[in-house]
Amino acid sequence: MEPIVPGAMLGLLGGGQLGRMFVMAAHQMGYQVTVLDADPDSPAGRIADQFICAEYADRAALKRLGEQCAAITTEFENIPAAALAQLSEFCFVSPDAKSVSIAQNRISEKQFLQANDFSVAPFAIIEQADQFKNDKVPVAGLFPGILKVSQFGYDGKGQKHVNNEAGLNAAFIDMKSVPCVLEKKLPLKCEVSVVLTRGCDGEVVCFPVVENQHVNGILDVSIVPARVSAETAKQALEIAGNVAAALNYRGVLCVEFFLLENGQLVINEIAPRPHNSGHFSIDACLTSQFEQQVRALCGLPLGNTVLHQPCVMVNLLGDLWQNGEPDWLLVLQQSSTKLHLYGKRIARPGRKMGHFTVLGATVDQALTKALHIKQLIGLD
Ligand code: ADP
Ligand code: MG
Repeated sequence: MEPIVPGAMLGLLGGGQLGRMFVMAAHQMGYQVTVLDADPDSPAGRIADQFICAEYADRAALKRLGEQCAAITTEFENIPAAALAQLSEFCFVSPDAKSVSIAQNRISEKQFLQANDFSVAPFAIIEQADQFKNDKVPVAGLFPGILKVSQFGYDGKGQKHVNNEAGLNAAFIDMKSVPCVLEKKLPLKCEVSVVLTRGCDGEVVCFPVVENQHVNGILDVSIVPARVSAETAKQALEIAGNVAAALNYRGVLCVEFFLLENGQLVINEIAPRPHNSGHFSIDACLTSQFEQQVRALCGLPLGNTVLHQPCVMVNLLGDLWQNGEPDWLLVLQQSSTKLHLYGKRIARPGRKMGHFTVLGATVDQALTKALHIKQLIGLD
């Protein structure tokens, strides 16, 4: 493919904060962006060159997008595969419909990973109440476990902890009996992720391994580089690259892992897009995950992702707004800290409103500083 050069119009499905950061990276490099989203006031839509206010299933709107763009990407994994397939009749689309449809459903995601010999948590597919009775679907070894809806779950939503068959049945009915995955709860030492980019010729460039701390199922803090052994970090990068190759993927991909107490790495989930745990790259790497998304989409060589300094990223959730707008000067007066606010007008509890990244000479120094700033603004 001939590289798409600056000045061209790029398309983006989804108007959230990941899209906004894509638009900012594309603008920096001289591209224009058309965003399609159903929200007339979305974070990315507001700063786009052109905005199409429409649902992802609106074929006429998709046609308009396809006709005016040189290439199209997404920031949201629940785009219907049919929309990506339709768009690919007009121009290059990345990520591809197949990768997105695998990643957007926990059942197909687990089946794909298992079929390709990647290690995942022991699981069972639960599609009907009581289907595990008489051992039709063996679940005995999966307790205590977590029942997760197969689609549209995020930030720990659509999950219930279950301890036995009766609890499983009740939880499944509580989830409106939609298809689910029951996953064995594993003893975690920590969680890590790898964000990588795979270019058109199969070239893979990774960001450093990230250590992620979640609170209530939502990412709270990312620490870079992850405090794991060199061997574990090497394995994580290698496995992530193998996942991208198995998907024949093009674009930015995140692979989230559980690191078990016994040292084993198990894949938790994959995201076919830039990821919250890669936001540190905007301020701490020579090339950010969003610039890589532009580069992969446009068929350009990938950028160098070298880390300038160890860093810690802290998410800012809507809960922080409960007493009004936080005092941002407390963050802005810190000289090695970068504040990002996504321009969302309504702050709901659990909603991702922004983040800040703290750089330091060492991971410990960055972490100490980040925890201090968290305390200053009232996040404990
Ligand atoms: P989401 O799509 O909402 O991010 P995840 O499946 O990643 O859902 O689960 C959210 C968090 O819940 C994980 O980051 C991890 O902390 C915890 N968790 C999920 N599954 C397991 C498991 N099998 N064992 C232990 N902890 C888990
Ligand atoms: Mg997750």
